[in-house]
Amino acid sequence: MALVVQKYGGSSVADLAAMRRVAARVIERHNAGDTVVVVVSAMGDTTDELLDMAGELTDNPPAREMDLLLSAGERISMSLLALAINEAGVSATAFTGAQAGLRTDGQYGQASIVGVVPERVARAVREGSVAIVAGFQGLDYDTDNVNTLGRGGSDTTAVALAASLGADVCEIYTDVDGLFTADPRIVPTARRITSISSEETLELAAHGAKILHLRAVEFARRYHVPLHVRSSFSDKEGTWIHTSKQEDTVEAPIISGIAHDRSNDKLTIVGVRDQPGFAARIFSLLAGAGVQIDTIVQDVATAGNGFTNISLTIPEGDAAAAQEVLAGAKEELGISDLQFNPNVGTLSLVGAGMRSHPWVSAKLFDALFQAGINIHLISSSEIRISVVVDDDRLDDAVRAVHTAFDLDADQIEAVVYGGTGR
Ligand code: ASP
Ligand code: MG
Repeated sequence: MALVVQKYGGSSVADLAAMRRVAARVIERHNAGDTVVVVVSAMGDTTDELLDMAGELTDNPPAREMDLLLSAGERISMSLLALAINEAGVSATAFTGAQAGLRTDGQYGQASIVGVVPERVARAVREGSVAIVAGFQGLDYDTDNVNTLGRGGSDTTAVALAASLGADVCEIYTDVDGLFTADPRIVPTARRITSISSEETLELAAHGAKILHLRAVEFARRYHVPLHVRSSFSDKEGTWIHTSKQEDTVEAPIISGIAHDRSNDKLTIVGVRDQPGFAARIFSLLAGAGVQIDTIVQDVATAGNGFTNISLTIPEGDAAAAQEVLAGAKEELGISDLQFNPNVGTLSLVGAGMRSHPWVSAKLFDALFQAGINIHLISSSEIRISVVVDDDRLDDAVRAVHTAFDLDADQIEAVVYGGTGR
């Protein structure tokens, strides 16, 4: 008998037929003797539709009202699923995030979970019920207001509940059979990853792999919650994400997977004085403007004129702010030019085993060279190497690197079962 937290994403509860299918899955598990707590996302594209409707009404929605609105999507799902399960003769009790004891801070639209007190959930399952919890939301106890956790936040609800209940596993149900060595839309021969560390999953998720809410993986890692990412449309095993307690005993594969990200822009600051203090000034200006920075590369000042260049990648959304604040400081810093290139993308190769295999970067660069792809920037961590390339060559780059590292499966493994990709 296990305590299982199951999270079903929007495509798994997109309509009533899907809802019944999920109900049957939950009931099967419950009847097998496991204790089941379910977390649901909003149906299909509901959250986007709510955002669209709000946008029709106003350009300046009050944050409090928006969070209340968006939290409604998950509440519809939780209630309908509870109805479907009860109709099939199994007791199910639905809870909003607040009722389930999810306490958040007061940051509307991007709240953090500050505590979980899942007493009512625990009582419901003790009394033999299936507990169903609306994902993506919690209550700020200081103000008694509902806050949402940021897009994709239901994953984090599920992992936080699993951690606080001491669940044996948190199953994340989606419309693909788990994590793949690359995006199957780009690499049809991508292979399903059977098992991966949370550390590698964090690197993949942080570099564009749309697999899990980043904070959900961080939570799982911190509280040692084993995650099983799998499809709600099949019975196949998915991908197990093991946490640091277990990681020590697993021999890491050299490469686990490739993530890609098109949402970054490149900015090159030409003619930065090669003296202490100038980089500090630039980055404090950028930080002050709220610009998030991913890769930073400073050239060696070889020209002998006392100037160097700094290139960085930043999220698309931050480009305007970055340009504005730097343009304003051009005189002060003696910058000769600001070059901005939105047409770049990042490929990231991730694997815990690359720590002990120094030839990984050579092989990566060779694969890109063979494919005739030029590299703009390179950055790395202990278990990741990222390269920034031209956007229109990014797919080719992913395919070339996937093949070079022998990641291709013999047969097509990746099936996308649902979802509108919205
Ligand atoms: N419904 C929310 C969203 O679409 C939260 C989630 O699905 O996890 O972002
Ligand atoms: Mg989602």
